[in-house]
Amino acid sequence: QGHNIKGAEEGEIEEEEYFYNYPIQGFKEMMNRFQFKSYIQENMINKGGYLEPTPIQMQAIPISINKRDLIAVAPTGSGKTLAFLLPLVHRLSTKSEKEKNNSDIKALIISPTRELANQIHRQIKLLVPSKKIRASVLSKAKTSLKNQDPKNKKRIDILVATPLSLIYAIRAQEIKVDRVTQIVLDEADKLLEEGFLEQVDEILAECTAEGVQKVMYSATIPSMVEMLGNRIMKDPVKIVVGTQNA
Ligand code: ADP
Ligand code: MG
Repeated sequence: QGHNIKGAEEGEIEEEEYFYNYPIQGFKEMMNRFQFKSYIQENMINKGGYLEPTPIQMQAIPISINKRDLIAVAPTGSGKTLAFLLPLVHRLSTKSEKEKNNSDIKALIISPTRELANQIHRQIKLLVPSKKIRASVLSKAKTSLKNQDPKNKKRIDILVATPLSLIYAIRAQEIKVDRVTQIVLDEADKLLEEGFLEQVDEILAECTAEGVQKVMYSATIPSMVEMLGNRIMKDPVKIVVGTQNA
């Protein structure tokens, strides 16, 4: 788990620990500390009207920016969506232009329902203009991407999808997820309740890129969620806000 400062003085290492581990104090402080792109800053304020971070956002954001795997538990309505979206869009916004322009899917957000997937998609579009970062919701009704002219192939940076639609599209070879480097499992407790465990496993098996970051968000943490996290993740950080069974 990496300090990438070789031969750093002790003081510098402490500084780095602070950089990624210390909760954000406010959105302004977050943007300064991690050098957020100005379009994200402006949209946060003008379109989102988000003034101060919620407790889960304060804790989860630096850890996610540090590319750690994460199991985050916080009550419904506590702002979990923004907690996973901000680090995700920040990371994509700082990728080199060349990398950004390839058509590979770079981030996958798995949600138990189509309705929730649409909500997440709306929140992404609120944060970033589509010419900077392209987000899409997968739907079975969409015309197949497979037979498209490669020149017109639609670029998708972030794909939001339910497990079943994702499996369907992967099996039909309509999408490829082998270049995905960030995966979010939203409402992990619901995902398991609905019996999506096998589908999630099948999807993860297709995400074969090196160093994939996985984060899992849930309102409750039944032992199944924790077990899944520990099984699919590498040395995950666990954050719990409020009571575990709220
Ligand atoms: P959860 O996923 O934890 O149930 P959501 O992410 O759906 O919660 O957020 C609930 C509501 O709070 C949404 O309307 C969202 O836009 C709003 N919200 C999220 N973060 C903030 C914030 N920092 N300040 C103000 N409102 C916020
Ligand atoms: Mg949520």
